[in-house]
Formats: sequence, structure tokens, C-alpha cells
Amino acid sequence: MRTSEEFLSALSDDREVYYRGKKVEDVVKHQVLSVAARHASRLFEIQNRIVTEPELGEISRYYATPRSSTDLVLRHRLIYDTTMYCNGVFNISQAIGSDALFAMRLISGETDRKHDTKYSERVRNYHEMVAKKDLTLAVAQTDVKGDRKKRPYEQSDLDLYVHVNSVEKDGIVVSGAKAHTTQTAVSDELIVIPTRAMVDKDSDFAVAFSVPASTTGLKMIVRPIDEFEGNSSALVSPHDYELETLTIFDRVFVPWERVFLCKEFEFAGLLAVTFATFHRFTAVSYRAATSNLYLGSALSMARQNGIADSPHVKDRVGDIVMYKELMRMSAIAAASSPQIKDDIAVPNPLYTNIGKLYSNNNFSDVLDALVDISGGIISTLPSMEDLKNPVLKKDIGKYMSAAGDGEERIKSIRLAKELAASSHTGYMLTLMLHAEGSIEASKMALLKDADLSDSEKLVKRILESDKVK
Ligand SMILES: Cc1cc2nc3c(=O)[nH]c(=O)nc-3n(C[C@H](O)[C@H](O)[C@H](O)COP(=O)(O)OP(=O)(O)OC[C@H]3O[C@@H](n4cnc5c(N)ncnc54)[C@H](O)[C@@H]3O)c2cc1C
Repeated sequence: MRTSEEFLSALSDDREVYYRGKKVEDVVKHQVLSVAARHASRLFEIQNRIVTEPELGEISRYYATPRSSTDLVLRHRLIYDTTMYCNGVFNISQAIGSDALFAMRLISGETDRKHDTKYSERVRNYHEMVAKKDLTLAVAQTDVKGDRKKRPYEQSDLDLYVHVNSVEKDGIVVSGAKAHTTQTAVSDELIVIPTRAMVDKDSDFAVAFSVPASTTGLKMIVRPIDEFEGNSSALVSPHDYELETLTIFDRVFVPWERVFLCKEFEFAGLLAVTFATFHRFTAVSYRAATSNLYLGSALSMARQNGIADSPHVKDRVGDIVMYKELMRMSAIAAASSPQIKDDIAVPNPLYTNIGKLYSNNNFSDVLDALVDISGGIISTLPSMEDLKNPVLKKDIGKYMSAAGDGEERIKSIRLAKELAASSHTGYMLTLMLHAEGSIEASKMALLKDADLSDSEKLVKRILESDKVK
């Protein structure tokens, strides 16, 4: 299996990456982007990541197809443990890609049965190649989308959704752009899948494929990493963060063996939703672990401020505990009652979406609790530069002491500031609301899968028993 060093050295290729207006020569040597690369590389240090599969031999457990409840519980635990290992920051590197692979394995079978295509074989071969080489994958699903009320074919500029430009003898040529693609610039490969259901006129946009990150015509523009560059007192971001890119396909050639859907529009929505179910299961799993950052920070600030026993503090800590455990409960509930399709265990979509929606709707309360317990100092703490000045350090240490020593309290304040009063806060609030799909997308999925029959039967019985005599 690969080591962190082997993974990092493979990233030094001719991928086209831009950061703050400049072309990046080597992501691994770049002062800022190398942190995201090293964060990704920590995946290869995870204990118990390796499993032996009957046909593939030793592979990463991320790429082991779940066949049962037990497999899904183990997958939840793997994602949770990896996030904990990376200081509470999700490590997407083999998680999102395997979510897409499992969805493609299911939907390619259905597409083949209807269209007599060869997608299942291609997806299986690609899955095996990725697993055997222990590669990392980014997934670009979200198109830039243009006017949200219009379908892909109705947009003023067709490039607002990734689409097939032309079909050639050896493959296809694609153009367009995807938004917010996590860790693309520091991944080995990129999988592209549709973002929504499509109609026949959208068929050019119904496309799924994979490309190496260094493919000609693939351009990645990385978001500014403000949480790393703009906060000199940050404790987590200097070691672990994930980048996102605006991912542009400028007439990219994709050979047939890497094409997994090409114009079969009626399967675009099914692929999008099946991926979303796997990926939201991943989301509630890592969010349970990420919650420990906020919970631990709130407990630490409560102790430092001398208020750990106050009833209102216990109340607010309880809110964060509930958030964390609801993430974990929905993952375990979804794993316990999966839908088994073509010998693949799909996490229960209802329980997965309920957890994801709870996370969307309640993360601001987690932040609110941390700000409340911490006090205004998380916005007004003197700078790291002041803290490093020997004269000022003494003064600041003296005046920052509370229930405990000033220096210790300053460390707690720095973490609480990073989590609840910095650019990291804005990034995480957006992530908790939008990543793994918008609130509306989850609500639609939830209502589709909700079992209303018991409720209907119960009320019908009551209404019918009240017969007018
Ligand atoms: C940190 C982060 C990481 C991410 N990582 C990835 C990734 O790795 N890969 C990937 O593919 N995606 C990724 N995403 C994208 C994520 O899935 C999307 O942000 C999410 O699906 C919402 O899409 P959007 O951002 O285009 O928002 P929009 O769709 O523009 O949503 C904005 C608002 O418009 C509303 N809206 C949208 N369409 C309609 C309509 N037709 N009618 C009425 N209202 C509408 C929405 O409900 C919402 O209220 C990531 C996002 C974030 C924030």
C-alpha cells in the first residue's frame, strides 16, 4: 500500500492549478497549498485502513464495497476515526471518491440493462485500478449552474453545466465548469458526475467520467485559504484544512474506458441522488467527529472562565452534545437499515437525510453556544505578534488569567476564536449548510423516502371509528 511520501511525490506533476492569480508550479512545494496536500497524505497513516478483499487482495477499506449493515457501521467508524486523526477536519481523499464509485456501480448496471451499454465493466475496472493503486479521488458533481430556474439546455451559455462537446472514435470531448470541488488540486484523480435530474433535451449534459488531475485542459482555481493566511493565531488550519476549486474543463478529452454515462439522460438524476445518499452518510459520519472540536473547545473555555458548573453553560454544552450524537445516531440508524441493491448496501436514505438536515439547521446553535461560553475575548484577543513580543506577552498573560493560568487560557481562546469568530467560522458555516447538497435537496429526498402509511392508517382508523350515528 502507498505511503504518505509516495502519495505526495505523485502530486508533483504538470496539473494546472492557480492560487491568488498565479500559476502554482508544484502544489507540494507551495507555502499554502502544501498544507492541504499534507492533510490529504495523512490518510495513508491511518491505522487499520487496510482490508483484504477476495478479488482485489489488500486495499484501502474506503474502497471496500459495503455489502451489509456491519460493513456500513465499519465505514462510519473509519470516517469518524480518520476525521479524529486529522484534528477534527474531514479527510475527503478516498471517502467522496468511493461514495461516487458505489453509486456508479449501481447505476451503471441499470443503464446497461436498458441501453445495452458497457458502463458496468468500465466502472468495475476503474474501481479495481483505483483500489489497487491506492489512489485518492476528488468528485466534481456541482455544476456552476447559471440561472437556477433554468434547465441545463436552457442556459444562455452551455458551459454553465459540464457537457459533451463531441463524440469521437476513441472517446468524448467535454467542456464546462464545476464549482466548489474539494481537494481536486491535491488529488490523483477526479470523478465527474451529473448534479441533477435531466430531460431528453439535456442529454449532452448527462455525462459521468474520470480523469487524472494532470489532464490537459483541466484548470483548477483554488479558493483563498483565509483561515490559514489571515489568522496568525490559528491552531488547526496550519495543519489541516481542505481546499476547493472552480474546476474548468476546456475541451478535455476522455477515453471511452473512463466514460461512465454519456447522454443516457434518464439516469442522470438517479446517479446524482444515489451518490448524494452515500455522500450524506459520509457527511454525518465526519460531522460527528468534527463536533468534538466545538464540544472540546466549549468545555475548555468553560473551565478557563471558571463557569463550568453554571446551569446555563451545562445547558449550552448539552446542545453541542446533542448535535454530535444526532450525527452519530443517524449514521448508525442508516447503517442498521440499509437498502440492499445488486449486493451493495446503500445507507438508509431517510435516516441519512434526517441527520444531514439536523446538521444544516442546528450548526449555527453550536457556534452560538461556543461564542456564549467563550465571551467577547474570542474577537478581541491581542494578536499573535503581540503575544510573541516578550514585554507585551507578560502583560497579556497577566490580564488573560482567569480560573487558570493566562498562558493556558490564551491557547483555549485561540482555538475558540478560530472555530467561532474567524474566517474559518464562515467557511464551516457555509460547509455545514451547503456541502453534500443544499437543504432543499435533502428535504426533497426525505419526503420521497418517508413512510407515511402507518400515519395514514392510524388517522383513517380514528376518523372511521367516529361514525355519525
Ligand atoms: C465547503 C464546500 C465543499 C464542497 N465540496 C464539493 C465537492 O467536493 N464536490 C461537489 O460536487 N460539490 C461540492 N460542494 C457543493 C455543494 O454540494 C453545493 O454547495 C450545494 O449542493 C449547493 O449548491 P450551490 O452552492 O450551487 O448553491 P445554489 O444551488 O445556488 O443554492 C443557493 C440557493 O438557491 C436555491 N435554489 C437552487 N436552485 C433552485 C431552484 N431551481 N429553484 C429555487 N431555488 C433554488 C437553493 O435551495 C439555495 O437556497 C461543496 C460545497 C461547499 C460549501
